[in-house]
Amino acid sequence: MTGMREKLIVVTDLDGTLLDDSYRWDAAAESVEELRRRGFPLVLNSSKTLAEMRDLARELETVAPLVAENGGVVAVPEESGLAEYCGGAEKRDGYLLNFPGTSRERILEVAHGLRAERGYRFEGFADWPVETIVGHTGLSAEQAGLSARRVATEPIRWHDSEDRLAEFSGLLGGHGIRILRGGRFLHLMGMCDKAGGLREVAKFYRLAEPGVAWTTMALGDSANDLGMLNAADIAVVIPNLHGGPLLKPEGGCIFTATKAGPEGWHEALSHFLEH
Ligand SMILES: [Mg+2]
Repeated sequence: MTGMREKLIVVTDLDGTLLDDSYRWDAAAESVEELRRRGFPLVLNSSKTLAEMRDLARELETVAPLVAENGGVVAVPEESGLAEYCGGAEKRDGYLLNFPGTSRERILEVAHGLRAERGYRFEGFADWPVETIVGHTGLSAEQAGLSARRVATEPIRWHDSEDRLAEFSGLLGGHGIRILRGGRFLHLMGMCDKAGGLREVAKFYRLAEPGVAWTTMALGDSANDLGMLNAADIAVVIPNLHGGPLLKPEGGCIFTATKAGPEGWHEALSHFLEH
């Protein structure tokens, strides 16, 4: 026994993990409340934009940092006790923004510069009015507006050859920008991921409260969560709502929930909060 106070940082994916298909988290409400009661931070870590996550954070009454756009931005609430430990961050909408990779502004400057210079044929969110984003995504106009408010990534549609894509990718790489293939789009983003977001947030808490023995727990349901699960002290695998394969994290402490979505989330948290 070290005599240090022990605290847990819970870092969670949203879709299919804390949220079900209807974007509800009621089944996990009891555990969310228990975390708040104990003063354990609840960190949302998603591919969504900050604008898309902010209302949910408010509903969950979490004042922990938000990790948005697949680790592209770590947003620390200005009123949070972590604010003074998160470095020279840019301010926006009540948050201090940290870019572990590259800002979208810089990504667009490089990508659009290469397009102008070499004539690559592609279009992305920055080129489209909201109606076009609605057409490409099936989101409502309101949701599309929130999804368009990106700060660290740029989704594009490639209309050129695969050879030219490989060339474009190589040139972007020289500027610290990579291409991630998603379901609907190619995502231009910095050299960052959800695991880096978890490490960054844990670093802020360790700086702000050095007298606490911090343990990190990550919860996720799909392939883009695996790195985050591997980076945590405790990895919680939530079965995929649509029957995809179970994640297989590497590491010492792994808990696999029997139920999908927020029910599995609650199952895992109750298990650890009781022990
Ligand atoms: Mg998910």
